[in-house]
Amino acid sequence: MQHSVSYPDVQLFIDGQWRGGSNHGGAPATQPIINPATEETIGTLANASRADLDAALAAAEKGFAVWRHTAAHERYKLMRKAAELLRERAESIAQIMTMEQGKPLPEARMETQAAADTIDWFAEEARRQYGRLIPARAAGVQQIVHREPVGVVAAFTPWNFPINQAVRKVSAALAAGCAVILKGPEETPASCAALIKAYEDAGLPKGVVNLVFGVPAEISSYLIPHPIVKKISFTGSTVVGKQLAALAGAHMKRVTMELGGHAPAVVFEDADVDVAVKLLSGAKFRNAGQVCVSPTRFLVHEDIYARFVDGFTEAVQAIKVGNGLDEGVRMGPLANPRRVEAMEALTADAVSKGATLRAGGSRIGNKGYFFQPTVLTDLPADARILNEEPFGPIVPIMPFSSTEAVIEEANRLPYGLAAYAYTTSSARADEFARRVESGMVSINHHGLALPETPFGGIKDSGYGSEGGTEAMEAYVNTKFVTQLGV
Ligand code: NAD
Repeated sequence: MQHSVSYPDVQLFIDGQWRGGSNHGGAPATQPIINPATEETIGTLANASRADLDAALAAAEKGFAVWRHTAAHERYKLMRKAAELLRERAESIAQIMTMEQGKPLPEARMETQAAADTIDWFAEEARRQYGRLIPARAAGVQQIVHREPVGVVAAFTPWNFPINQAVRKVSAALAAGCAVILKGPEETPASCAALIKAYEDAGLPKGVVNLVFGVPAEISSYLIPHPIVKKISFTGSTVVGKQLAALAGAHMKRVTMELGGHAPAVVFEDADVDVAVKLLSGAKFRNAGQVCVSPTRFLVHEDIYARFVDGFTEAVQAIKVGNGLDEGVRMGPLANPRRVEAMEALTADAVSKGATLRAGGSRIGNKGYFFQPTVLTDLPADARILNEEPFGPIVPIMPFSSTEAVIEEANRLPYGLAAYAYTTSSARADEFARRVESGMVSINHHGLALPETPFGGIKDSGYGSEGGTEAMEAYVNTKFVTQLGV
């Protein structure tokens, strides 16, 4: 297949200008961008210095003053235009995303199109930020609830979905009338920058959205305490999320945290095993398992366990792994070498503790960050894979004997992001949905992460929602006004 798009160098976007980093005082002004399928350097990325962050803060403060007073209908129209631009450009953006992130081209296309849908949803929400009139106790008193934008938002987004992690935060913030400083993903910056470009080309006023890259800890430790920043939204690992939430707490900043997960995927004995095999093998290896809501702990009733393991292993062995730009590839490389090392360590740990390797288990070749789709069974409870988020293409499968036991196992870990179940009993489905400790539950299909539905976790998976009407709550303050007419 011929690919016409060449990968761009990526700059910072500050106060409506695309530009390199400035005043670095010896620190590198750029960093290389690597294609995970080939390990080639495909571009360079500008690093923000302290001076660039100050410029972004000043621009966002100025942008907020304009945007908060822009009519909701105007915000809606501009956002709809950005969505259309993203759709028009989806094919070239998808190619760039696959080059920098590795995912198969159809997944990159889907992500870009889905991002346009997300913008549309939040554009509509901009027009629905209704206040409230509360009946008063006394005559002549009017009690009004206003919803006001929180102010300048500092958003931090990761490399697994370069556009979709950013589009939710940026679009909800813009819909509410906030300005944004987005720290995008350094490993996958160009497709994220293409999202910001769509907003620029749609006519967003200068300073309303600013995009920076650099050393994540340096940027977050400067932006989070800064008085101009009023709201923090982070997507990434639980360990980093806790650090950033603590820093935000010390400065009384509002926070949304979308963190790691370890989703149980339960297959009850009355499930359609073939359907469960097909849907779970599709969902698990999407984006090579680097998905926070990826099904992770497979818990299968002992009566159908052998049949499920055989069917699933066969399905996994048929998955074509390769460069995401190549036709027919179902799973690309992992996004960075850290994930390959993590997959090797998790597999070795499980096998050394007695687990059986049913499929995969090794990296593929010596160029590119490829790892085989992997299936493990007979795992001891202390295998790391059963306790740590793998964020990669490894599936541990365990048998269970009773509903009580499987609910206890599903709720055992501190995570609570997503949970899945397969059953033909509606009573069982209801019970599972009620008792599982999870922000999201999907039964007999994988239906999470639509713009119009809530998206978020509980426990160590974070707090706040990034979808549905709930997502707007993160970006508005409530102001109560009571007035006695005189
Ligand atoms: P990591 O913990 O170093 O980084 C995760 C993300 O946080 C990256 O985007 C990184 O840029 C950012 N980050 C790290 N330190 C930061 C800081 N001090 N301030 C601001 N941002 C910071 O790990 P990694 O190797 O990039 O990814 C591995 C783990 O991260 C995975 O195991 C997974 O748990 C988690 N992760 C989760 C998501 C998600 O969708 N929830 C996405 C990507 C990574």
